[in-house]
Amino acid sequence: MKMNAWLTASLLLSSSAFAATAPHWEYSGESGPDNWAKLTPEFAACAGKNQSPVNIGGTIKAALAPIKTHYVAGGNELVNNGHTLQVNYQPGSTLELDGQRFTLKQFHFHVPSENLIRGQAYPLEAHLVHANDKGELAVLAVMFKVGAANKLLDQAWKSLPKSGDKVAFDSLLDARKLLPTKLNYYRFSGSLTTPPCSEGVRWLVLKHPMTVSQAQLDAFKTAIPHANNRPVQSVNAREILE
Ligand SMILES: [Zn+2]
Repeated sequence: MKMNAWLTASLLLSSSAFAATAPHWEYSGESGPDNWAKLTPEFAACAGKNQSPVNIGGTIKAALAPIKTHYVAGGNELVNNGHTLQVNYQPGSTLELDGQRFTLKQFHFHVPSENLIRGQAYPLEAHLVHANDKGELAVLAVMFKVGAANKLLDQAWKSLPKSGDKVAFDSLLDARKLLPTKLNYYRFSGSLTTPPCSEGVRWLVLKHPMTVSQAQLDAFKTAIPHANNRPVQSVNAREILE
């Protein structure tokens, strides 16, 4: 009996894993952000108390350590997963944080921005996603205002894959081209901004925006035609440091 129950459970698990890699969700409608937590038990964290994005305000002055990135060129492919355009990154670029090393895994984009800075939205926000060897995440977020074209985005979005497709780059992209010179930042604890909305993510949002051209924004929208920003979530008991 025990064995049968175990077999049934494992068969169910493997068949559901086979049927789909992840349950379906969207940015609007019945599968939209208000309902993410109810779509499947796997997304229960979306109703948590430490969710991202947030409206950054009511900050507390703190002696935040300077951000230390050790990036090299490593972006090797562009993926259109239907929710965003994501550049996957080869191992070898790291962020030093809390005495630990976090490796840059990928960066992707939200139009318009997800986080707000004192109520202000930006037309574009980049998320550089890092993980340490325990699998804990740190996201470095960069805002963009409309202005001069960004050189990395010209390279990254030269050839746009359709939803579900990807393209390899001829030469590796360098994430340093996404960062402003001054790396002053806000810090708080948050979550993934997409299901499963896992918490415990270290968020670093840079204060100084970069620029993106209107043509680059339009190019992004041809690949991802809908807004892909989750609405801001309650800060609750969290502190936002600067
Ligand atoms: Zn993101």
